[in-house]
This record gives sequence, structure tokens and C-alpha cells, in this order.
Amino acid sequence: MIIVLFIVIYATIGSYCNILVKITIFRLFFISLVQQNMKNEIFMAFRTAIVLFSDDFRVKDNPALHYAVKNYENIIPLYIYNETYLGRVIGAGAKAFLHNVLLSFNSLLHAEYCISLIIKNGNYVDEIKKILSIEKIDAIYFNKSYTLSQIQIENDIKECFKDLDIQFFKAKLLFEPSEIKPLSGGAFYRVFTPFSKECLKNIELIEQSFPKPEQIKSIHNISSMTVENLNLLPAKEGKWAQNLLQHWTFDYDEIECNFIKFIDNKLENYEENRNIPSKNGNSGISPYLRFGILSPKMCFNAVRSKNIDINHQFILELLWREFAYHVMFYNQNIATQELKNEYKNFQWDDSKFFLQKWQKSQTGFDIIDAGMNELWHTGVMHNRVRMIVASFLIKDLLINWKIGEQWFWNTLVDADPAINPFSWQWIFGSGFDAAPYFRIFNPESQKKKFDPDGSYCKKWLPKNWKSEKIVSHDIQRKITLERYKNLRCRLVQCIDNKS
Ligand SMILES: Cc1cc2nc3c(=O)[nH]c(=O)nc-3n(C[C@H](O)[C@H](O)[C@H](O)COP(=O)(O)OP(=O)(O)OC[C@H]3O[C@@H](n4cnc5c(N)ncnc54)[C@H](O)[C@@H]3O)c2cc1C
Repeated sequence: MIIVLFIVIYATIGSYCNILVKITIFRLFFISLVQQNMKNEIFMAFRTAIVLFSDDFRVKDNPALHYAVKNYENIIPLYIYNETYLGRVIGAGAKAFLHNVLLSFNSLLHAEYCISLIIKNGNYVDEIKKILSIEKIDAIYFNKSYTLSQIQIENDIKECFKDLDIQFFKAKLLFEPSEIKPLSGGAFYRVFTPFSKECLKNIELIEQSFPKPEQIKSIHNISSMTVENLNLLPAKEGKWAQNLLQHWTFDYDEIECNFIKFIDNKLENYEENRNIPSKNGNSGISPYLRFGILSPKMCFNAVRSKNIDINHQFILELLWREFAYHVMFYNQNIATQELKNEYKNFQWDDSKFFLQKWQKSQTGFDIIDAGMNELWHTGVMHNRVRMIVASFLIKDLLINWKIGEQWFWNTLVDADPAINPFSWQWIFGSGFDAAPYFRIFNPESQKKKFDPDGSYCKKWLPKNWKSEKIVSHDIQRKITLERYKNLRCRLVQCIDNKS
């Protein structure tokens, strides 16, 4: 166009002008040509990717963010909240924790890159479509998730935005479910030890952690909700949530620093101390892993950098997390159905009275009541105590494991869609590689063994706690074993009838 115009002007007035005018026309032509080219080049180079965050709220070791920044000049960091993104309504404890995580992540983006997280609420595809109607988007990058509802969301995105560059990455697990397959055939491992051995054989699949991007540009006209608009803090139990959050830091540097301190000071005696709640020998990272402030790879690599044995108990615990995810991936109804069919017909009492006593730290068993009180005040509970209280609910109070799982789901800040139901089924016996049904924790002997000086109980028992026991462990134990036996008899009868 510019060239044609130039020829016309030159041909029309060229013969009347002196040499100076001709030079000026030529200069103007040249400058406009260069400008046009530059504009094209800038336009071509300024391509935009959405990075869709979901439980991976970090800039370090975030492959979706890393590759988006590498491949695109402009980034829209997007978070779409949907209460049921995990396939079930997110529990109150985790929701409150998410509130602070989002505030902290947004502050981090501001401080490090002068950019903001774009927050939306609703259907993923609809929200992305709205963004596409405002901005030209070339790509959508995200880190893979493993619950059925998240997989469906990701598939919808791939399907609806086929024309864009859609890329997804492994970031929430050390191993993809497809990477660890049983040697003997079958889709997934049902037993932890061979699973963990196979993981350790494939350790080279765990890459180095990605550094945080040096800079991120984010230029767009997309509006954002505030974190407060999402109403993640419970209206009714606002004070409970506030108290809960006070137990946690949301400062990224502090979280990392605390983990490094754990590695430096506590890793060596982890195996010995991890079962004693009062020793504080655990890492305390579970809610940070849950929301992706830390990645499992960052944790694994940090621990490995200490040249510890690959079979170190801490690494095995990270692999228990992997195992729970692999099992959930292939058994998506893990929170609603027994993994082993034969446990489906267990005869529960489901006493509301006992349930409330358990929830309110009023069972009269000190280790149980201390644990439930720790949960209420901090949103977590020591692993050993989680096992004892879960066993007590199922095997002493004869309350369905799903009810206990739901209470944990509502109150834990680390409430995890895979680990929580997996662990409850493990205690009941219906899970894979689960505790045998006859393993019924005696709360009193557990207390003697794991809280010998009583300091954990002293710390967490509520004021005015009463030691009046709501059941006799010995009697309940007998009833429970009888019920397990009935279950097995019915199963044998059923098999006999069929054959
Ligand atoms: C009934 C019950 C319910 C549970 N629910 C959850 C849950 O919702 N979310 C959750 O993160 N953990 C759950 N756990 C597992 C475990 O109790 C917590 O992971 C642990 O207490 C977290 O503390 P930590 O980070 O200091 O653990 P550490 O001992 O420092 O371990 C480091 C990490 O390894 C993983 N890990 C440790 N123990 C286990 C385990 N038994 N199974 C799977 N992964 C493990 C966790 O990711 C943990 O953060 C549950 C356990 C039981 C018995």
C-alpha cells in the first residue's frame, strides 16, 4: 500500500520538484516502511498465554508458568474458583486456608513481578471464553490434576480451545500414574512396597526443579475479582477459621526456610521421632503440598541434596502420598465406595451421640480428645493421632468411615482428595494394602507408647476436660471383631451360593 502510494505521488509531482523535495519524499517513504515493519514485528512477537493456576500456587518449580514465560511474551495468570472443582464441595478448613494462600500468592506476584493474579469464579470454559472475547489469547498452559472432575475440566479446555496452543505438565506428583505400572500387569499397584520400589527404580524421571522466572510481563484488560469476593472464609464459624489460620505462615520465604530447617535439623532423626507427637519431628508441610506452595519435586530434591539414603523414611512418606494419588486416579470414587467390595456391607451403628462426642473432644479418652482438639484449633493433627482417632471412630464407636472422612474433609487445612479417603479406607481395612481388620488401636496403650510423658495430651486437652469414658474399649473391640467376622461369613456364604 505504502509502495503504491509512493509511486503515484512520485510519478505525479516528481517531474515538477527539485532534488531536495524528492529526497524528502523518499525519506518519508523509508521511515513509514520501517515503522510499519517494526509494528508488525512487535505485534507478531507479543503473544499471550493464559497460565491457569489450581493448587499449584507458586512461581518456583512451576512447569506451566516456566514454559509459558519461555514461549510467550505476555502472560495472564488466571485462577478460576469453583467450589466443586475436586468433585465435592471443598471443606471449610481447606477453604479458609485457600483464602490466605491466594492473598499471599497475589502479594508474591506483585512484589516479584509487579503483576496480579486474575481471579474469577464459575465455570472454567465460560470464564476462559469471556477472556478470549476481550484479549487475543494464543495459549493456555496448566499443570495436570488427577481427580475425575479436574480431568474433565482439563479435557473440556482442550476440546473447546483446540485452536490454541494447549499444554499441560506434571507438577503435582513425582510420577504420573502412567509412569509406574505393575511389572506383573494390571493398571496400578495395590501394594505399597512394590509400588515404592518401582518408583525408586525410576528416580531419574524426577527432574531438577525449575527456577522461578526472572520476569513476567502481564499486559491485558481483564478485570479480576478480589480474594474476598470469593467468600472463602466461613460466615458462621468466622472466628474458628481466623484462629485456625493464625497457626500458619503464608509467607513463601518463611515456608521454604522452615522446610530447609527441618531438613537440616530433623531429617536425621525423622524415622525415630515422627511417631511421637510431642517431639515435633515432622515437616509440617502437608497443607503447603496440598495447595502447591511447595511441590513434591522441590521437597524431594531438597532432601536428596543431603545425600541421604534413597530409602529414607521421609522419601517413603512422600511416596505414600504418590501411592494414594495413583490409587485415587484409578478409583475415582475412593471417598464414597469401599475399594474392596467385601467391606461394603459392614454393619454400622452410626450413633449421632457418639459422633458428636468424638467431634467435640468428649470421649473421655485423653489421646482421642487431645487429637480432635488439635484438629479443631490448627486444622491438622499428628499422623499417629489421626490413625488412633480414625480407628476409634470406626472400630470403637462403629461409625461409618465415610462420616469420619467427611469430618476430616471439613476441618483439615490439608484435606486432600486422595490421601484423606485413602487413609480412612486404610484404617477400616477396605483400602489397598490396608491395616488388617483385627488391628484395633487401644487408645490407652497407644497413649502410653506414643505420648509416654503425656505432654501432647497436656498441650491439647481442652480446659475442663472430663475423663469419663463413653465406651469400654474392650467391649467395643469384641463387638467390632464379631461384625468383621459376620462380614466374612456373609462373604463366604455369598461365594458358596454363587459356586
Ligand atoms: C485418617 C487419616 C487421614 C489423613 N488425611 C490426610 C489429608 O487429608 N491430607 C494429607 O496431606 N495427609 C493426610 N493424612 C496423612 C498424614 O497424617 C499427613 O500427611 C501428615 O500428618 C502431615 O504432616 P507432615 O506434613 O508433618 O508429615 P511428614 O511426616 O513430615 O511427611 C511429609 C509428607 O509426606 C506425606 N505423608 C506423610 N504421611 C503420609 C501418609 N500416611 N499417607 C500419605 N502421605 C503421607 C504428606 O504429604 C506429608 O506432608 C491422613 C492420615 C490419616 C491416618
